[in-house]
Amino acid sequence: HIPVICVDGPTASGKGTLASEVARRLGYHYLDSGALYRIAGLAATRAGLELDVAHEHTIARMAETLPIVFTDGRVILAGEDVTDAIRTETAGMNASKVSALPAVRTALVALQQGFRKLPGLVADGRDMGTVIFPDAPLKVYLTASAAQRADRRHKQLISKGISATLADLRADLEARDARDSGRAVAPLKPAEDALLLDNSGQTVEESVAQVLGWWEE
Ligand code: C5P
Repeated sequence: HIPVICVDGPTASGKGTLASEVARRLGYHYLDSGALYRIAGLAATRAGLELDVAHEHTIARMAETLPIVFTDGRVILAGEDVTDAIRTETAGMNASKVSALPAVRTALVALQQGFRKLPGLVADGRDMGTVIFPDAPLKVYLTASAAQRADRRHKQLISKGISATLADLRADLEARDARDSGRAVAPLKPAEDALLLDNSGQTVEESVAQVLGWWEE
């Protein structure tokens, strides 16, 4: 069986940083499942669709056949580099909207499971451990306080030269968490067999070491 490590948790908890570093250390593949919802949201917005139930099946069909290529850390959609376009706060909010549509989630299942290849996979998202890879031998549920998460997102944006206020960012991520936790299908919650990791007071290296330690057990 091909090994999978799942890293789930709320917005800006540091899942991407942790999961991609663990993947690098182990020489495993890495799946950023949030990117798929961000791309689906972007593709639907560009097609002029409202991101609501009225367009659920149209968006799901688009999601199923997304012409995406992941290469050298870049995300290419239909030949266009959308790496930066999918990282904006608006793109995150749009991702959260399309991800609440059950048909869209179903449309992305096979694509996500296809990332499970030898020698192994580290997958980050909201439902990696609960829905996509329920048989994964290690599931980590990563949390950090809302204040910490807003602060990290703020530093990330500043480093990219994008201005935003802490209060706006915090309100934004709390709204996104509320939608992600409250939706009917695959709500954000730890899998029953997940190990909880609160990285509020940890460096990246400490969280990476913790996960690698669990993996070796
Ligand atoms: O992790 P990221 O912020 O890129 O995810 C964007 C949005 O995509 C999340 O707010 C969530 O609504 C959705 N998502 C999801 N299931 C996943 C990954 C992301 O519903 N596995």
